[in-house]
Amino acid sequence: MSVYPWQGELWQRLTAERERLPHALLLHGPAGIGKRALALELARWLLCQTPTPAGGCGECPSCQWFAQGGHPDFRLIEPAAEAEGAEEGKKGGKRISVDQVREVVEFLTLSAHQGGWRVVVLQPAEALGVAAANALLKTLEEPPPRTVFLLVSHQPRRLLPTILSRCRKLPVASPEPAAALAWLRAQAVDAPEVLLAEAGGAPLLALDYAEPERLARRQRFIEGLLDAEREDLSALAGEYQQRVAEAWGWLVRWLCDLSLCQTTGQVRYFADHAQALRKLAQRIDAGRLWAVYRQVMDDGRWLQHPLNGQLLLESWLIRYAELGARR
Ligand SMILES: [Zn+2]
Repeated sequence: MSVYPWQGELWQRLTAERERLPHALLLHGPAGIGKRALALELARWLLCQTPTPAGGCGECPSCQWFAQGGHPDFRLIEPAAEAEGAEEGKKGGKRISVDQVREVVEFLTLSAHQGGWRVVVLQPAEALGVAAANALLKTLEEPPPRTVFLLVSHQPRRLLPTILSRCRKLPVASPEPAAALAWLRAQAVDAPEVLLAEAGGAPLLALDYAEPERLARRQRFIEGLLDAEREDLSALAGEYQQRVAEAWGWLVRWLCDLSLCQTTGQVRYFADHAQALRKLAQRIDAGRLWAVYRQVMDDGRWLQHPLNGQLLLESWLIRYAELGARR
């Protein structure tokens, strides 16, 4: 385990001096860029008995406990099944419970097992509800000596001010595209440019997107968009009824690319279909395209509601097909 290549500089800054690390640090930035991994490596390094400049040594008893997930002076708090870059639509709604927080507060009243540091990684911090956050406040403000809280957040604006005010905020930036692409190529990802664009520059998210089943779903959906007039749109919406958010994301990006084709001749997201997009864009009225794009974007707010997703998706597809999109 070590930090991602694009985090090297940040890592050096953070680890310049162990004793001067703030007792509560909030690592915030876009999802899918490796904040969770950074927090975990910081934790491992703090707990390591013979730390190196690059992180935990990987060999001392402390690092071995850490690797086995059983370090007595470490706690990782996250909602069940939460992992950075988790698939769209599967996260959200998952909460860190009051009981999870109470367990950590209790754990910190005991003295450190190894007589050194104790580290709590809590992610994502926006999964703390009001009650869970309140249960944490006092300990977060005045933790025992040599205790470090590492909070990770993709959406710091959603955090309670009482939590925010108790943390030192550390922005974690997306990597430069070249660094992200080099890393994705090293993971044997095909066409990394396309996936990185779709992931908004977040390489770990792009790696998730490279999963073969997802690529197949994406391809199938795009084929539907390319031939929308002949496609059975109700059936297409039915195929994606469990993944409306995912399909919505593709449709919005597709409409964005069509609009970009009309104004600049460029595509941002579907470089693998640039030619087809340009052809389509020539046949579509710009004003009507813009109206549909706006509508579908606005309707994104319904994705969190328990509406009939299939009907919603079908209504967007019908409006799109009415633009006269035909291969
Ligand atoms: Zn070690």
